Amino acid sequence: MSKILVIADQKQNKLKKSTLEVLSEAKKLADKSGLALEAVILGEAIADEAKVLAHYGVSKVYTIENSIFKNYLNQPYIDGIKKAIEASSPRLVLVPTCESVKDYLPGLVGATNACGIMDCSSVDIDGNTVSIERPLMAAKAVSKMQSSDDLIILSIRSGSFDAVEADTSLSCDIESIDLGTLDIKAIFKELISAQSDRVSLDDASVVVACGRGVKDKAGFELIEKLADVFGAAVGSTRALVENGVAEASLQVGQTGKVVSPDLYIAIGISGAVQHTAGMSNSKVIVAINKDEEAPIFALADYGLVGDLFDIVPKLTEAVKELKS
Ligand SMILES: Cc1cc2nc3c(=O)[nH]c(=O)nc-3n(C[C@H](O)[C@H](O)[C@H](O)COP(=O)(O)OP(=O)(O)OC[C@H]3O[C@@H](n4cnc5c(N)ncnc54)[C@H](O)[C@@H]3O)c2cc1C
Repeated sequence: MSKILVIADQKQNKLKKSTLEVLSEAKKLADKSGLALEAVILGEAIADEAKVLAHYGVSKVYTIENSIFKNYLNQPYIDGIKKAIEASSPRLVLVPTCESVKDYLPGLVGATNACGIMDCSSVDIDGNTVSIERPLMAAKAVSKMQSSDDLIILSIRSGSFDAVEADTSLSCDIESIDLGTLDIKAIFKELISAQSDRVSLDDASVVVACGRGVKDKAGFELIEKLADVFGAAVGSTRALVENGVAEASLQVGQTGKVVSPDLYIAIGISGAVQHTAGMSNSKVIVAINKDEEAPIFALADYGLVGDLFDIVPKLTEAVKELKS
């Protein structure tokens, strides 16, 4: 076992919370196994964030800076990370799972002839063996695997690990890698993204989520008001997306986003496994539901049984008062 390499994920040239979670766990693994920890960051203007990676105990950072990363295409990521793997020679590569990683990881695994496993929730190293856990069937089952391959690339499910505090006194070597000439077959045409001033679900520390219980757009607006007083992101179940009340980008769950905020408030949500697969790693879960038998209460740290149309406006006022 030589090194661990973390692929840092960033959005608009800022490291994502999920990257800090993976870095923190990678540092623990590296210290425990006596391995060096390195990282690679790819993007348009990433010099500042490369320095931040050092604050998590990384001994060397590879930067691959290129305007091609302005808009996502998988080939530059595959080519760039392959070069970083050649430069670093790691045994284990860890990357936080996100939509782009789901897209480029199979290509990267093929290009590097690695053992690749997507969306893992636990990693351990014992000598030459890497033990991996991966939730299956909406997290109702866990697959336990071991690998002794020469190169293992794992994507890590968001919220699987806690991010430690940065140590800003730390610094490290930063080496730039040239992406070189690319043979790109795909053309980026257009990015259509939902317009919202709210915090994004990916990085929110508080998520106020709602389900079919809110009934319609007017009910959904009550949830938005509560989210606004918290400075929170709004999440939704698939039921609300399917009936046109919520945007698809807000869906949390097996076929939506996986989130792990400090506080997840589930309002008018029954707690189907396909939904809880996307939020069960939240630190504190509060459920509001008029049915005391709703499965969400089995997962919740705090539960309020009652009509959301009574509770949510009162809660919004109470939080507003507390904050003022
Ligand atoms: C392959 C597959 C993938 C799926 N992926 C996802 C996914 O990614 N995310 C997801 O969310 N779902 C997903 N689903 C759907 C999932 O199975 C559930 O159908 C869905 O999560 C239910 O949404 P809900 O809780 O909003 O609705 P319901 O199950 O109908 O629950 C509504 C809840 O609101 C409560 N309620 C009603 N009125 C009030 C009120 N006035 N006050 C308080 N409480 C009230 C009710 O008691 C009930 O518990 C998937 C399903 C399949 C088959």
